[in-house]
Amino acid sequence: MSHDCQSCGACCAHFRVSFYWGETDTAPGGTVPAKLTIPIHSTYVAMRGTDRHPSHCIALAGKVGEQVSCGIYTQRSSSCKEVMAGDEQCNKARRAYNLGPIINQPQEEAEIPC
Ligand code: SF4
Ligand code: SF4
Repeated sequence: MSHDCQSCGACCAHFRVSFYWGETDTAPGGTVPAKLTIPIHSTYVAMRGTDRHPSHCIALAGKVGEQVSCGIYTQRSSSCKEVMAGDEQCNKARRAYNLGPIINQPQEEAEIPC
């Protein structure tokens, strides 16, 4: 997670985080612990806790908007990697928690996304 993400976590507690079941560790090459997921239909699963409202990923530790961490950071799904600090989805999630938008800096100065 980038510096912004470590004090945020809003996207991990706002959206349904779903992805192809083949990303779970029950499939060859899969990484996401299957026990932390729940099937949502025949080929897709979601991170537990994000399949309901209010959403909160089971792997998210800490308090949104203060200090957070992902318990499976190196094993997280492609959907987790898609949201970039400062993009539309990011700022949508942040708005839901009354956190101000992140304004992206020029590419060479941008932080590594979470
Ligand atoms: S991508 Fe955006 S919403 Fe998600 S944790 Fe990082 S700063 Fe927060
Ligand atoms: S697995 Fe980690 S990065 Fe993905 S939604 Fe959950 S806490 Fe966020």
